[in-house]
Amino acid sequence: MSVTSTQRERYDCDRDACEQTFPKGAGAEGSYCSQRCADLVTGRNLVQHIQRDHRFCHNCFRQVKEIERVDKTLIVGPVEHDSVADTFADCIVGYEHLTEHGELGERQDGHYVLDEDAGGRAPSGDAVVTGTVCSCGTTDHRDDYLRREGITSTPAAARRLCDILALLGREDQHDKTVDATQLVDAVGGDPATADWERAVGEAIEPR
Ligand SMILES: [Zn+2]
Ligand SMILES: [Zn+2]
Repeated sequence: MSVTSTQRERYDCDRDACEQTFPKGAGAEGSYCSQRCADLVTGRNLVQHIQRDHRFCHNCFRQVKEIERVDKTLIVGPVEHDSVADTFADCIVGYEHLTEHGELGERQDGHYVLDEDAGGRAPSGDAVVTGTVCSCGTTDHRDDYLRREGITSTPAAARRLCDILALLGREDQHDKTVDATQLVDAVGGDPATADWERAVGEAIEPR
């Protein structure tokens, strides 16, 4: 028994919602059935990336914090023979400043949030947990990620998202170009039904 050379191997598209297959060597960006599927996955990844970036409001895409990168010489260097030395390199990234859209306020009571900046320790006591609150009313609490309220203008939020994507591109965090007009169209006018991840995918410009 042998595999004949005419037998074509087919691969499943890597986008979860897609059931297409593609022949070996014909995938878009390696593992997708089409460029559209590749772009939709990229759109999802970009939006999720922004949602994890504390500088931006994940609801309305306003920038709530700026990070002033510090000079390399200010970074605490690894201490020899220290078992946690590897973590020091990432300790000091820069100083955070709130923008005109961000202010400190209560973000959630009732349960504790691990504070990454404090090395993953939970804040002590019954104190109200404070964090950055955006001018749209959204806090930076992680449970808020899927909340989509407080946007009064979806097109305006889409244009801000475009600005963020351009900024992240200048920071070499991705190499995609997103068409602002197409993004505004793809998001639609209703914040309740806006699918940001899909919209970004649809607005990625072909190379
Ligand atoms: Zn596909
Ligand atoms: Zn906001």
